[in-house]
Order: sequence, then C-alpha cells, then structure tokens
Amino acid sequence: MKEDALKHLLESVLGKSKSARGGEEAVFKCPSCNHHKKKLTLNLSTQKHQCWVCGYKGHRAFKLLKAVDAPPAAYEALKEIDKQYNFKYKKVKSLPSGSLQFPQGVMPLISSSAILSRHANHYLSQRGITPQDIVKYNIHYSETGDLKNMVVIPSYDGDGFLNYYVGRSFDKNAYIKHKLASATKDIVGFEMLINWDLPVILCEGAFDAMTIKRNAIPLFGKKISSELMKKIIQSKCKSIYLALDDDALLDAFEHAKKFISLGKKVYLLEMEGKDPNEMGFEKFNELLFKAQPLTTADLMRKRLSLS
Ligand SMILES: [Zn+2]
Repeated sequence: MKEDALKHLLESVLGKSKSARGGEEAVFKCPSCNHHKKKLTLNLSTQKHQCWVCGYKGHRAFKLLKAVDAPPAAYEALKEIDKQYNFKYKKVKSLPSGSLQFPQGVMPLISSSAILSRHANHYLSQRGITPQDIVKYNIHYSETGDLKNMVVIPSYDGDGFLNYYVGRSFDKNAYIKHKLASATKDIVGFEMLINWDLPVILCEGAFDAMTIKRNAIPLFGKKISSELMKKIIQSKCKSIYLALDDDALLDAFEHAKKFISLGKKVYLLEMEGKDPNEMGFEKFNELLFKAQPLTTADLMRKRLSLS
C-alpha cells in the first residue's frame, strides 16, 4: 500500500515514526526544530504534515526530503510512490457548512436491526457509549461505501445542519480505523448541543465529548477553529475547560490568553496522558472538579514546559 511505502521511505530519512489516529497518521521527529520528541504529524493518505511545536508544515512529502537533504534514491522512490497518490482528487473543494451530507450508505443506527449494526452497537458499548447516547447524538453507521464498517458520529450546527462527521471502524482488522469528513474543520463541534450560558469543555475527539456528556465541544483534532474562537468570545460563556493532550495544549494556550484578557476563566485539566474516553466519565469528573483557573503567568510557565 502506498501509505506503508511512504511511511517506510520517510522513516529511512527521518528515523522511526510512531502511529497516530489509528494508522492514518505517522508522527516523526521534526527536521525543522529537531524537538527531542516526535512532533511532526504526517497524514499518510494526503501527505499533509505539520509540527506541533514549531508550526513547520507542508502538503507533500517531497518537502520533507528536501528538509533533510535526502539522497537522490529517496526522491526516486518518492516519485514512484506519488504515482499512487491521486493529488488532484484530494484537492476537491469542500462543501460549505450547511450543505454537508453523509456519504452514501450511511444510515441511522437506531432503526437498524441488521447483523452489522449489532457489531456497531457492540463497538460503541465497549467505548462506553450508551443506547441513550446513540439517540442523543444520532449516531449512524455504514455497511457500504466510503465509511464501510464504521460507526459515524455526526456533528450539527446551531441550526441543526450537519457540519461535520467522523467515522470509526468497528472492524478490528480494518487498516483505516478512522475517517473524517472531507469538509472544513472551521466549525463548532456538537454546536447544536451546546448551552453557551454554561461552562464549556474543549476536547479532541467525538468520543471524548460523548464521554464528558455535558457541554463538551470536540475539536476533531488539535486546533481551536476560528469559528469556535469567535463563538466563545461572543457568547456569555464565562468558563472554558481544556481537556486536551499536550500537543493540543500548545495551540490552545495561544487562544487561552485571549479568553483571559476578555475576563473569562480558563481551566486546565491534568489529563495524565489519557484522553477523556479512555478514563471514563467518573474519573473525568474528578479531574474536572480539581481543575484550577489559569493565570497568564501559569500559561507562560506551562508553555515553556511543553515546548
Ligand atoms: Zn518542529
């Protein structure tokens, strides 16, 4: 597979990678900042990459070969691999929010009695998702097409329009475990379910948000979108809780300064290397109640310790 070939090639010049997002991404040492930890994530199906420490980024693996002054043989190998990438297709413009639709084959889980839907239900219950959650979040699944053998978690905007979705494979042997909508991420995750008069909790994934249960906004990644930023600033929401891992915190701290300057309180949850879905609702709540509001001085100190 082209993803494997690309990973091996890049490992030959950048050193061993670690896998992220269920194999969809490989994380390398960053050739730009040379941070001692692996901080450069590369999407193996698009080649897009970015370093979470220094911000170095690019669209093609070619750029990385240049950055490390790779031998000619590496370029030759990449040329062969690139033939398998359909870059033009990847550039298809994403739909504007409000017109996003599920790919073909995606259907509501609640109304299905098919055998595969039982696999989907089983997968969800293993991840702590209850039948009530399936109704509340309108969880879908697919037996065919792009999201075959995946549960599909939709996100709806404030008007109830689909603004994003994420697919998670319930097939243990699937190579791709995780698929994101090919739409803009400049949205507010689960916006329809958010009460802006109450504290909001920012987390990374849809499963994290469902585990947290109340007023949790999934970023569907590690970045606070400008739409979310705008919404928080304009809303009456006084407190923002950050339930993010270290990689995402670096970015979040940039925004936290702004929140604090606007008189909002920002709380940092000490995640101890686990995401909310891994730790479960009870443990997460303990951390939530222990969280302390950050000051600008805390922010600077934390930023230094992370980078
Ligand atoms: Zn870097």
